Amino acid sequence: MEQVDAIVIGAGVVGLAVGRALARKGLETLVLEREDAIGTGISSRNSEVIHAGLYYAPGSLKARLCVQGRAQLYDFCASHGVAHRRCGKLVVATSPAQVEGLAQLAQRGAANGVNDLQLLSIEEARALEPVLRCEAALLSPSSGIVDSHGLMLALQGDLERAGGAVVLRSPVDGMRLDRAGHVLTIGGAEPMTLRARIVVNAAGLDAPALAGRFDGFAAQHVPRAHFSKGSYYALAGRAPFSRLVYPMPQDAWLGVHLTLDLAGQARFGPDAQWLDAATSDEIDYGVDPARAQAFYADVRRYWPGLPDGALQPAYSGVRPKIHGPGEPAPDFCIQGSREHGVAGLVNLFGIESPGLTSCLALADEVVARLDA
Ligand SMILES: Cc1cc2nc3c(=O)[nH]c(=O)nc-3n(C[C@H](O)[C@H](O)[C@H](O)COP(=O)(O)OP(=O)(O)OC[C@H]3O[C@@H](n4cnc5c(N)ncnc54)[C@H](O)[C@@H]3O)c2cc1C
Repeated sequence: MEQVDAIVIGAGVVGLAVGRALARKGLETLVLEREDAIGTGISSRNSEVIHAGLYYAPGSLKARLCVQGRAQLYDFCASHGVAHRRCGKLVVATSPAQVEGLAQLAQRGAANGVNDLQLLSIEEARALEPVLRCEAALLSPSSGIVDSHGLMLALQGDLERAGGAVVLRSPVDGMRLDRAGHVLTIGGAEPMTLRARIVVNAAGLDAPALAGRFDGFAAQHVPRAHFSKGSYYALAGRAPFSRLVYPMPQDAWLGVHLTLDLAGQARFGPDAQWLDAATSDEIDYGVDPARAQAFYADVRRYWPGLPDGALQPAYSGVRPKIHGPGEPAPDFCIQGSREHGVAGLVNLFGIESPGLTSCLALADEVVARLDA
């Protein structure tokens, strides 16, 4: 049986970043991906926003890895020629009752180490974005946007330069835990088994289902997967905004926001819809034109000038939740031997937003837990 030092399951942005980090440590590393291309999962169905780190509970992994990962990501994009823009973002209070919440958000951001936030009056906000309607706003200059596919290609490039490889069409069907090296069963056109001392489960939406198939892994450590779909609608015509615009967050949901792509095209989303699907194969990514109706009302709270009929169904993405409707949103779950007792195995569960922003910091965290 062939043996390598490390196997990462899943070539999304997180799996690629982890594979890169392991390969750069000198480990012989393979990233196994079941599809015929990298980044066809959550990583290509998101807002492509580089988050500053405002929203997350101080001291949480999400807060720490977002702030650290954002700085790493800007440096990485600059050094690797990945298209990105530090365009900034405004979080807007659209009623007097929300103004206090904006100040609390600024405090939370500061507690997380986001040191450049500015509370703006109506006049100051409108000086930046003249068509905006709000009572006050919070400016986050270090928020931005990134070409997520360009980022993944650059991560793959680094991985390969360090001697690692991505192997496509290689679905991991299961794994037998073994102290001498975990034994992975790989399906596809040429089924095979591979042994690896280190295995990182970065299978995104399917990470819990996959961990449930690890022979010898205690079921109590496998969280139940829940899927929350978010649909996006593109704005027909030019957007009269040059920054991202977010409403006040509601619990863990950031609300229907305006994001811009690198070509300046605006889109609104994602909304939040719990799905019944048990595995990612059962997900319908279609965008229902009827859901746009709720978007008009939400968006007009901060942009009353949104014309009728301007929203076109665009695409959707699905959040890899490990909590159900009505339950409090948990932190990223990075599960290493300290948590489950199995040497050389890290499971990544619930890597939802800000997972794209945090990918490089997540990778460092995984490596640190494997070293510990
Ligand atoms: C609607 C939405 C908006 C978001 N917006 C943002 C944002 O603006 N900013 C931000 O920072 N984050 C955002 N995120 C979060 C971010 O997109 C994710 O955290 C990140 O993309 C997760 O990457 P991943 O590599 O863990 O998962 P994925 O990209 O899904 O990668 C997992 C890979 O594993 C593969 N795989 C699965 N099972 C197997 C198997 N058995 N064998 C081999 N391969 C397998 C899949 O094919 C897939 O390619 C958003 C997420 C969503 C859903």
